[in-house]
Amino acid sequence: MRGSSPRMTKEGPSVGYQTKLFIGGQFVDSLEGTTIDTLNPHDGSVLASVAEAKAADVDRAVEAATKAFPKWSRTPAMERGRLLLKLADAIEAKAEELALLESTDTGHPIKDSKILDVPRTAVTYRYFGGMADKVQGSVVPVEAGFLNYVLREPVGIVGQIVPWNFPLMFSSWKMGPALAAGNTIVLKPTELAPLSTLRIAELMAEVGIPEGVVNIVPGFGWTAGQRLAEHPGVHKIAFTGSTATGRKVVEASAGNLKRVQLELGGKGANIVFEDANIKAAINGSAFAIFHNQGQACIAGSRLLLHEKIADEFLDGFLTLAKSIRLGNPLDPKTEMGPLTSAQHRDRVKTYCQIAHQEGGEILTGGQPPADAALAKGYYMQPTVVRAQPDDRVCMEEVFGPFVSVTTFKNEDEVLAIANRTPYGLGGGLWTTNLQRAHRIAQAMIAGMVWVNCYKRVNPGSPFGGVRASGYGREMGFEAMHDYTEAKSVWVNVDAQLPPWYPR
Ligand code: NAD
Repeated sequence: MRGSSPRMTKEGPSVGYQTKLFIGGQFVDSLEGTTIDTLNPHDGSVLASVAEAKAADVDRAVEAATKAFPKWSRTPAMERGRLLLKLADAIEAKAEELALLESTDTGHPIKDSKILDVPRTAVTYRYFGGMADKVQGSVVPVEAGFLNYVLREPVGIVGQIVPWNFPLMFSSWKMGPALAAGNTIVLKPTELAPLSTLRIAELMAEVGIPEGVVNIVPGFGWTAGQRLAEHPGVHKIAFTGSTATGRKVVEASAGNLKRVQLELGGKGANIVFEDANIKAAINGSAFAIFHNQGQACIAGSRLLLHEKIADEFLDGFLTLAKSIRLGNPLDPKTEMGPLTSAQHRDRVKTYCQIAHQEGGEILTGGQPPADAALAKGYYMQPTVVRAQPDDRVCMEEVFGPFVSVTTFKNEDEVLAIANRTPYGLGGGLWTTNLQRAHRIAQAMIAGMVWVNCYKRVNPGSPFGGVRASGYGREMGFEAMHDYTEAKSVWVNVDAQLPPWYPR
């Protein structure tokens, strides 16, 4: 079944890769037989050639999902939940292998894949497995003589498009609630890192999720993604990616007016007030921007420092940034791995040049590391840039280990800066003043705010943004709501209807 067999590398045991499309319960080649190479971001070597889905393959996958829908949507919710709970167990049983796979394909440090990506993936399927039979309709107190009840029904055939920064975890955020609610799925993983999603498809088949319920079609965005977004047989499209692509998805979805859910970019403001616990703020702010090489939509990529503590904070923050251990993602000591692609690394480098051209001061980093052992990989040093609030590096998403630093004098000023980008995804603040914490949290334009912490997520807590960061929510009851439609049923129990047309 697998594309290649398990093997050893000089870094340790590697895993076999599934490389085919998953359609109708089978792993199949693409119709045209073309493939896409997925590269190891540590050294640029080819990890695997993965079958490339094009429009006709997406059509096949939608057909399979359509065929599976009537039975799956009528499968008792408790049974759907049981299968998701089994999947969560299977993921935990394969935790080591999945962590290795994710780190090899994306460049995530293995310690992060082990303690964050894989456990969060399992926990998400478990949460939605448990929720499957707890989403209830309601009875509405209407006029005497009538019964009105509201059913929550699955939306139907759902298209899902996932980016490369957390492919394993994000596919669980999308597939967990969609499956629990009784939808069938065609998911397009990123062309850059599809391996963990294909492995999950194998585990889904093993635990007994019926054929056609989930279909996985790795391919490029402008072919497979575009077809999925415009497909007349798809009833909802759930997209995670850049704001620019999100707009294209909305346009493509217009043909059949499918429902759209968008998780887009961000430019998180991370505010440190003069009364903050500085040591905690330094540590938390480093995690906010440098975890996963800054490739996180919710990264705290704009540091806003009160002028009274700016020097003290920067002293500690720069020392920490310079001490972060860059290295092979499979080395357990590595704290920052490579960026996921050469193209993306070059984009981050370009932003360093832009910062320089705009008069920003690069306080540390700004280029790839000098270490010859990392020369073939897509590495970038942790980069801290002093800049002005309206500079491009403070307004545009860089999506790398790159943080801008600006100072402020008071709450009004910092709120004006924090709320000045078109985005509204996540933001954070550090303070020991309780009233200020709530005041600022409420005033920030964002879907999520963290107080004295950053980037906390949990399957029960709604995740998503406002404005250019998208709409709709993943996680929690909101996600289940987004994957169901309300149907209102009116029953005449004993009402005498007044004659409408007197005869
Ligand atoms: P991207 O928009 O380039 O690609 C995302 C996905 O969309 C990929 O699978 C890609 O193949 C597909 N795609 C590309 N063009 C398409 C098209 N025309 N039609 C349909 N699909 C298409 O984004 P990326 O570079 O892979 O990911 C980084 C971006 O994702 C960042 O902007 C980041 O902020 C955002 N992101 C958002 C969230 C969130 O939850 N809000 C989470 C992670 C990443």
